Amino acid sequence: MPGAISQNLDRLRNQIADACARAHRDPTTVHLMAVSKTHPAEAILEAIAAGQRLFGENRVQEFASKKPALSTLYALPSTLSFHLIGPLQNNKTAKAAELFDAVDTIDSLKTAARLNAAAEALHKTIPILIEVKLSPEASKHGLAPEELPRLLEALTPLTHLHPAGLMTVPPLDADPESARPYFRRLRELRDTHAAKHPTLAELSMGMSNDFEVAIEEGSTTVRIGTAIFGKRVSSE
Ligand SMILES: *Cc1c(COP(=O)(O)O)cnc(C)c1O
Repeated sequence: MPGAISQNLDRLRNQIADACARAHRDPTTVHLMAVSKTHPAEAILEAIAAGQRLFGENRVQEFASKKPALSTLYALPSTLSFHLIGPLQNNKTAKAAELFDAVDTIDSLKTAARLNAAAEALHKTIPILIEVKLSPEASKHGLAPEELPRLLEALTPLTHLHPAGLMTVPPLDADPESARPYFRRLRELRDTHAAKHPTLAELSMGMSNDFEVAIEEGSTTVRIGTAIFGKRVSSE
């Protein structure tokens, strides 16, 4: 009998496909990221067994402690990918570069430069997203939209980073419609800057409560925690 995680993933894949159909979008252009923060390695293994390949974790240290338990399986699906979706602290940069396949929360040149140096030392190129803060009530993290052009220019010489797109977390609100203007704004920003920076293809936006609205507004990755793994025990 399939477990709860497997059933939740099935339901979400259907909901994503339905949202894509309503928005006249190709469902292969929307990726489902399973946000496994606070949940044990066993939950991640269950999701992998159910075919999930893309994961998001918020804390470097937490993922460092869970990753060894995945290593039995880790060699298997080469498409398995773990993204850091929480803030990157200076003293965790080297560890993050080692552990994660991508960092989706770059919001300053300082952080980017540190990550670039860490990636260079490991002889790898790390895909990054720039986290944009679109309202004063949104999370404390993220770059102001006006700062984007300057950061994008400054990233050009950082050849061990690959700027792949933009990410945002709108203010918390029970009504998914209230997130729509933020999603739309992120898409407009991406379209504007992609003219000069064509690697900016991705839009990471939408969570358990509002992913359907995010897909309607152009999301390419929805980050889903609660609707896959259930309620988190601690807040983050
Ligand atoms: C926790 C978290 C999510 C997932 O949130 P849910 O509401 O549980 O789906 C998505 N993105 C970020 C940045 C998060 O921290």
